[in-house]
Amino acid sequence: MRGFNVFVFMMAVALGTGSTGCSSEAGSSRAEPLSEASPSHSGGPPATVSIFSVEKGELVMVKKVVKSEEEWRDQLTPLQYNVTRKKGTELAFSGKYNFAKEPGIYQCVCCGTDLFTSDTKYDSGTGWPSFWEPIAPENIRTESDRAYGMVRTEVLCNRCDAHLGHVFNDGPQPTGLRYCMNSAALNLKKE
Ligand SMILES: [Zn+2]
Repeated sequence: MRGFNVFVFMMAVALGTGSTGCSSEAGSSRAEPLSEASPSHSGGPPATVSIFSVEKGELVMVKKVVKSEEEWRDQLTPLQYNVTRKKGTELAFSGKYNFAKEPGIYQCVCCGTDLFTSDTKYDSGTGWPSFWEPIAPENIRTESDRAYGMVRTEVLCNRCDAHLGHVFNDGPQPTGLRYCMNSAALNLKKE
């Protein structure tokens, strides 16, 4: 890891207060993790994961996408990199999908995994694109996030571990969940 931890710390300091906004509408409600966090893999061949493919209409076994910091930096814009690889948060009402209504599939901007359908998108009024359900539970994973003195449930892409946003218990029925996502972590594949 060498200097990586120091780098992460510096990034966290640099991100500072702007990174807590996604919880602003959640009050003190606490979302419990929806699934056990997967162990992180370092070294060895990439693990495989079962992901639901909208195109194929079924679960498919795929290799996890593991890339170096440099590779992610080359592939992503600075904002996309900051959000997905450094757990940043875009400013409220700044993301391109906040008000988006076009039908389609929201995919991971890093690896293309199908994450959410426009059918489950709703206007939460928070300033971030919000969904009440992912496309499939297999396509995301959650972790308890205790950063910034809060307990939140982080949502990550299950194939590439991209930070996507957080999930809260104040969403609409039928799930009662609010997946508060960053536009910068998503790519809308229009129908
Ligand atoms: Zn991904």
